[in-house]
Amino acid sequence: MALLSPWRATVLTLFPEMFPGPLGVSLAGKALATGVWALEARDIRASATDRHRSVDDTPAGGGPGMVLRADILAAAIDAANVASNRPRLLMSPRGQPLTQARVRELAAGPGPLLICGRFEGVDQRVIEARQLEEISVGDYVLSGGEIAAMALIDACVRLLPGVMGKAESASEESFAESLLEYPQYTRPQSFEERQIPEILTSGDHAKVAAWRRAEAEALTKVRRPDLWAAHENAAKSATKE
Ligand code: SAH
Repeated sequence: MALLSPWRATVLTLFPEMFPGPLGVSLAGKALATGVWALEARDIRASATDRHRSVDDTPAGGGPGMVLRADILAAAIDAANVASNRPRLLMSPRGQPLTQARVRELAAGPGPLLICGRFEGVDQRVIEARQLEEISVGDYVLSGGEIAAMALIDACVRLLPGVMGKAESASEESFAESLLEYPQYTRPQSFEERQIPEILTSGDHAKVAAWRRAEAEALTKVRRPDLWAAHENAAKSATKE
């Protein structure tokens, strides 16, 4: 029987020692240790060619900081030799914002190549020449792509078969059906005079489900009108079919 190769993340970084870092503990760490997924952190600097092993240079046109050189990064990408069916992602605040839908898609595939920028970013020409897809983890600026790559990998790994305990944990949580998750409670029954909502301890599963649904909808409406609109659109097109 041919062994199926596990989901794989290949990371290009100037700081390979940052990996696995937080991905080496808890759910992701256990799954890494048991071979559910594989991680390869490759040093971009290994592709430097000069005596000083430099990887960056000053921006053309002037301005502050340094830019990752196209030739060095392209050589690092080529040396990683990733299969053509694997997505090539560049972590970048200019990219498409990462969503749970994209995470699901990435988790279902063979696993991406992730390129971590540093300094002011990377030379535009390597983005075009190697057809990199820019992905952002939010509208704020990190000092490097490593933490962004870790966030993406963590979100994917927890969806791999066998990583999370219960299959349904993923189908009910935030962003499933473009809704935020309902509030969660656990013992003790009374905390600083606040009680667990009675319905949740009633044992009536249908009522619990209806309550959770209503809470999720109310929360989404108030906190994330953008998600709520997406949710309503999806509901509309579902009834049309
Ligand atoms: N000057 C750039 C920011 C560079 S930050 C700009 O204004 O767009 C340095 C590196 O950190 C980037 O190349 C990218 O790899 C990473 N990074 C920073 N913020 C990020 C974000 N929100 N999402 C993904 N990667 C990010």
